[in-house]
Amino acid sequence: MEIYLKTWPEVEKYLKKKKTLIFPVGSSEQHGPTGIIGIDFLTAWEIAKAVGERAQIMVASPMPYGMAEHHMAFPGTGSLSPLTYIQVMTELLQSYIHHGFEKIIVINGHGGNIAPLTSAFSQILGRQGKTHLELINWWHLPEVTEYEQKVFKDENGFHATCGEISVTMKTHPQAYLKPRPYRHFKTASKSAWPLSGAQFRKTFPDGRMGSRASLASLRHGEVIFEKAVAAIQRKLGPK
Ligand SMILES: [Zn+2]
Repeated sequence: MEIYLKTWPEVEKYLKKKKTLIFPVGSSEQHGPTGIIGIDFLTAWEIAKAVGERAQIMVASPMPYGMAEHHMAFPGTGSLSPLTYIQVMTELLQSYIHHGFEKIIVINGHGGNIAPLTSAFSQILGRQGKTHLELINWWHLPEVTEYEQKVFKDENGFHATCGEISVTMKTHPQAYLKPRPYRHFKTASKSAWPLSGAQFRKTFPDGRMGSRASLASLRHGEVIFEKAVAAIQRKLGPK
């Protein structure tokens, strides 16, 4: 159901029957010494594709970059400033609204996107009343957090979490074939927010926020992925 694998006549035909679109968004940013840079958009994208397939809802091309200013002291991170991200997301969402999509479910994989996405939604909705925009932060779904709490306890953490690393072990096992060096130490779990890139690296020196990354596993990834997909599908209701 990915829109980028369709033609325009196929999208036009879909719009005659359905007006819903799933839009996966994430970030390309550091995820500690063992988690891959693409976690936030890859998890959102894979979950979105599975939901789209099961619910027969079209899925937009993923937005792989997000508002990740606080990760900029770690190489490999690509970030858009909050204002730019709001503008980019506003215009992309408006493109699909322009074509006739009336309900857009944004499946998000990155905490830093929540505030600017909410602002983009306000920007779009403020002067019209027809479109329904919904933000689903997959890692906040109760079905997901309950499981993570049960298996990782307080060591799931807040960034480079055991849960999100596990999900990419399931979706992109080829990226985890070679074990990576990891020396566990307890990081700060809370801090004043937001932080600059330099402040973040000083507070969380290897990029993790409170997670014991070695608890991540393919098996947990399979369970969490399935829980997230099923929970979102339930939220969307019957076909
Ligand atoms: Zn992440």
